[in-house]
Amino acid sequence: MVKVAVVGSIALDSIETMYGSRRDVLGGSATFISIASSYLAPTGVVGIIGTDFPTEGRTFFERLGVDTTGLETAEGATFRWVGRYHQDMIGRDTLATNLGVFENFRPQVPDVYRSAPYVVLGNIHPGLQLHFLDQIPRAQFVVADTMKLWIDSAAEELGQVIKRSHLFIVNDEEARQITGEVNLARAAQALLARGPSYVVIKRGEHGASLHHAHGCFYVPAVPLLEVKDPTGAGDSFLGGLIGFIARMDRLSDEVLRQALVVAGAMASFTVEDFSVGRLAVLEKTELLERCGQIRSMTGVGHIDI
Ligand code: AMP
Repeated sequence: MVKVAVVGSIALDSIETMYGSRRDVLGGSATFISIASSYLAPTGVVGIIGTDFPTEGRTFFERLGVDTTGLETAEGATFRWVGRYHQDMIGRDTLATNLGVFENFRPQVPDVYRSAPYVVLGNIHPGLQLHFLDQIPRAQFVVADTMKLWIDSAAEELGQVIKRSHLFIVNDEEARQITGEVNLARAAQALLARGPSYVVIKRGEHGASLHHAHGCFYVPAVPLLEVKDPTGAGDSFLGGLIGFIARMDRLSDEVLRQALVVAGAMASFTVEDFSVGRLAVLEKTELLERCGQIRSMTGVGHIDI
């Protein structure tokens, strides 16, 4: 049974970083989310690919344990994104976006995903996120992500997405842009006031924070010595987060804190190689080891003065 139903983009990315470049490699929000989540819980993906998508692409998802019943193939070209990272490996420029078959995409939830308790609205147009969510009326926990493009161009529908999500995840810039608050603690409060019970703010190399009505929890990022390709860090963070929550199948404060650590660990592997290269060969023991590393960076004993 699929426990986590994911919708988002499936892309062929062309990426340039200071470590080199790759052309037409597997990318897209749904790709990183579903692969990361499926390490931890049965996960199904809904997305669209074109007839030019490499034949081994679909089997690649399946080999990593992702259910592909919801993967639609349409006549035409797969969505393509071309990006170049700045020297700081944080800033990036989108050089091209070719929608291809994505242009006419209307996500259809297969019957086998309809009873999934956990729903992830990966980064795509908020109108499509809502269309997907409408088809899973019994969803227990809805997590949603977005990007600058939709904050600029589809604010009203994005507002609906935020309202209907239980956990809304954004990066620091997006949190500021949506709320108009420069102070991130205030931005988190403003987002919580729009509906979700939880808000996660990703802060790149500074980690991430989880905010709710009664407080917040911070997790640092792993201080990696080499970041080859940051693409998909946020999406795999989200996949690790929801995968762990679904695996535990409860939403205690402790589970959420642990989920944030697993999410950070997952993201740290993603950036070690281009595309899904590192995620594809990730071992459970490595993931656990890195969770331990994050835990040891934050564990502080009692302080007495
Ligand atoms: P992230 O690095 O987590 O922001 O995610 C990067 C992924 O987002 C890439 O693999 C792209 O294919 C995908 N992407 C870029 N632009 C868009 C867009 N407009 N809609 C959906 N996905 C996109």
